[in-house]
Amino acid sequence: MKNWKIPLSKPDITNNDRQEVLKVLKTNFLSLGEKYIEFEKKIAKFAGVKYAVTVNSGTSALHLIIRALGIKEGDEVITTPFSFISTSNCLLYEKAIPIFVDIDEKTFNLDVSKIEEKISSKTKAILAVDVFGRPADWQALTEIAKKHNLFLIEDSAEALGSECCGQKCGSFGDVAIFSFYPNKQITTGEGGVILTNNKELADSCRSMANQGRKTEGGKWLEHIRLGYNYRLDEMSCALGISQLSRIKEIMKKREKVVKLYNKKLKGINFIVPPELEIGKKISWFVYVIKLFGKVAEERNAIISKMEEAGIQCGSYFYPIHLQPFYKEEFHYDNGFFPITESVGKRTLALPFYNNIKESEIDFVVSNLKKITKEINA
Ligand SMILES: *Cc1c(COP(=O)(O)O)cnc(C)c1O
Repeated sequence: MKNWKIPLSKPDITNNDRQEVLKVLKTNFLSLGEKYIEFEKKIAKFAGVKYAVTVNSGTSALHLIIRALGIKEGDEVITTPFSFISTSNCLLYEKAIPIFVDIDEKTFNLDVSKIEEKISSKTKAILAVDVFGRPADWQALTEIAKKHNLFLIEDSAEALGSECCGQKCGSFGDVAIFSFYPNKQITTGEGGVILTNNKELADSCRSMANQGRKTEGGKWLEHIRLGYNYRLDEMSCALGISQLSRIKEIMKKREKVVKLYNKKLKGINFIVPPELEIGKKISWFVYVIKLFGKVAEERNAIISKMEEAGIQCGSYFYPIHLQPFYKEEFHYDNGFFPITESVGKRTLALPFYNNIKESEIDFVVSNLKKITKEINA
């Protein structure tokens, strides 16, 4: 663990958060107590869906969804190569095949105009991501899924609180997930949740998360299906409840940081800050700028120089199809998804967290200015 002067992200844990966790530690229920039920109720209400099932990570949530929908060996699922790797790994767990579709250069989300040509008789679902918190085109995705009778899955791991057409991310499609990893908008340490309006689907996920037990009335050592231990413990749920109670304030703080960065980065050549969108509410997950020209070619050198100055930077995302084991298994190579590849090379994530100070933003921006000036000279 390196001690950065300014880290890429930082959890925002308050005294109340700590107290709520401590309270659980003073009870006899560290798992399957009252807290997970309360957290599920609150997160379902927040997202505007009927059912929520907490699990121990966003990745576990995705895995259970794939199983619950009966997606199996040889089935195809349309998804994006520009995401965190679990979006597509959850398919590999069940030997289903990710069918990648390239992204839109502006939003970094799936290019919906390229989906239909990839649909085959083996296609079972579309798994779309709200990349960096920016809502995907849910109107178009819903239409395509309906027309071809496909399940629609929303990986909303990065978009807790985002909205599109007045509806919250996490409520689109048949089923969705949030993640509560420490760099997400709210955290439980590790953790995730499945969201759906479909009771059967929710029950099936709940049972699988709890070793395949019945969701009601079963005995502890009675297992009615293949299950896993994907449960989220009570301390994590207590932390989640406390964090969720501050979500409005958290989103406001993050938006303020975005606006400050956007203002301060204005006028630096070959850097394009993220756009605010009209008609959509973005709950900002990370702050990612796009580089152009010579500056883009030197992206990795810029990251090294920033890190030498004690500023941690990120390069989200390295295309999934170019990850070594994907290349090997599916014979992907450079050139398969040109926009994803181009975006993957020219994006740069700057330090971004709720309580970043303006002086810290200034330090990041002045270093970036200096480094890019040298490149352009
Ligand atoms: C964080 C993230 C996940 C996985 O969440 P974990 O809780 O870390 O397992 C999945 N998809 C996307 C897009 C993510 O950003």
